[in-house]
Amino acid sequence: MLQCNAPTSVSACPLGAPARCPHCGDWMVAPLASEFVADAEIRHHWACENCAQASTTTIPLCVP
Ligand SMILES: [Zn+2]
Repeated sequence: MLQCNAPTSVSACPLGAPARCPHCGDWMVAPLASEFVADAEIRHHWACENCAQASTTTIPLCVP
């Protein structure tokens, strides 16, 4: 189902990392938008399909 099996891992997949909605706990698999906020961080903007609440997550960029 999910391309990224990140939830149990510490490493994050910056372009497709699923996140849980902080409002209802549902999985959000596709960010509305992503932006660089620092040299090695990406901020994802989410809109939950279940409860329609917006949220953001900031994660470190994977460096090879
Ligand atoms: Zn939600």
